Amino acid sequence: MKMTVSIAIDGPAGAGKSTVAKKAAYLLGYTYIDTGSMYRALTYLVLKNQADPEKEEEVLPFLQDLEIEWKQEEGENVIYINQHEAAAAIRTPEVTANVSAVSAHPIIRERMVDKQRELAAAGCAVLDGRDIGTTVLPNAEVKIFMTASVEERARRRHEENTAKGTASELETIQKEIAERDLRDSTRAVSPLIKADDALELDTTNLSIDEAVEQILELVKERVHES
Ligand code: C5P
Repeated sequence: MKMTVSIAIDGPAGAGKSTVAKKAAYLLGYTYIDTGSMYRALTYLVLKNQADPEKEEEVLPFLQDLEIEWKQEEGENVIYINQHEAAAAIRTPEVTANVSAVSAHPIIRERMVDKQRELAAAGCAVLDGRDIGTTVLPNAEVKIFMTASVEERARRRHEENTAKGTASELETIQKEIAERDLRDSTRAVSPLIKADDALELDTTNLSIDEAVEQILELVKERVHES
């Protein structure tokens, strides 16, 4: 069996990638790497300093200052930006609305991709994002492209918000998700696209456990039996 195994999980916003990736990583004993949180961390710093997310030259200095760390706290991977806990700060509606602009800049992507490859090379890992199977790790042992209808993705996000007691409006969420998908899929550098050799997993009618089960099955076939 190979020493380092990488599992790439890509797909549009709200398809359930992070929940499924986290659970699969836990059951396999692999590290979970949430690449979206890295673009979110940078977006958070840019907004906090009132820089323009659309201008690469204004974003770049914050990338140079960015230090991301994840700490295990009560079974959760908690993100720290420059030594400050930032789990909630990277998920505000402002960060979500601006992250696609920040992540579209070519130099930003180049540096983030290098960092993600470095993290993946450190051991067996499940990475979730938009371009893992196409760009970050084209040789990943297992590639999944996770989708669900935009209505279903919005419905799930709305349900999550409501359960957390966060104000939430279904129509606004659906619009925000559709806009982010469009920006992420039409950018010039490594757009959101299914890798030719990725398995498409439509989770519209699948539970989390069913999706995890399918991934574990693939890992068993492709990794453990090879
Ligand atoms: O996965 P999440 O929704 O947190 O990702 C936030 C944003 O980060 C995406 O909408 C996308 O613009 C960007 N992203 C990316 N490439 C990745 C992961 C995330 O461009 N590998």
